[in-house]
Amino acid sequence: MRLVLVGPPGAGKGTQAEFLCAHYGIPHISTGDIFRANLSAGTALGIEAKGYMDRGDLVPDSVTNSMVEARLNESDLDNGFLLDGFPRNAAQAAVLKEILKGINAPLDSVLELQIDEEEIVTRLASRNRDDDNADVVRHRLKVYREQTAPIIDFYRNENLLIAINASGSIADITERAIAALSPKK
Ligand code: AMP
Repeated sequence: MRLVLVGPPGAGKGTQAEFLCAHYGIPHISTGDIFRANLSAGTALGIEAKGYMDRGDLVPDSVTNSMVEARLNESDLDNGFLLDGFPRNAAQAAVLKEILKGINAPLDSVLELQIDEEEIVTRLASRNRDDDNADVVRHRLKVYREQTAPIIDFYRNENLLIAINASGSIADITERAIAALSPKK
């Protein structure tokens, strides 16, 4: 199963990604997690990403795309993968398509977690991450609307998009996702 998970900050991508990866036995590839790991380890990549992350801006495509390409060329992807937080704009979606063509591993589905902004603000207020303060959250939502939301149309046109309602309990949402992803008879 080769999946992309897309949805606004606070939609529960990270949480659902963990459950879906366990269910399908596939690695969870979160660009946000990779950036945060690099930040904690003090690598050059982490230092470069920090300012963008603190502001809630996207890290430049040149940096992000080569990081993802390296990850997708590792040897643990025989069962597939779940990409969480990538792609986040049209250019990244185009690059992803090329990378996957090169490794002969096209996407099966793009799962969109749909949730309204009021619930997002409530959820993010209960997290404790550096980039979750109110101003940065507002900016990340704006970046999502302007840069990331357009890729949903792109994937709809590619016939890959599956959207689910992402409000409710964590277990219900996981169940909804798995049902939506299972092949139709
Ligand atoms: P996330 O954990 O997915 O919410 O990502 C946290 C932050 O990491 C984002 O606000 C961006 O600054 C950066 N980031 C994560 N994924 C990407 C991406 N695909 N492109 C650019 N920046 C990203």
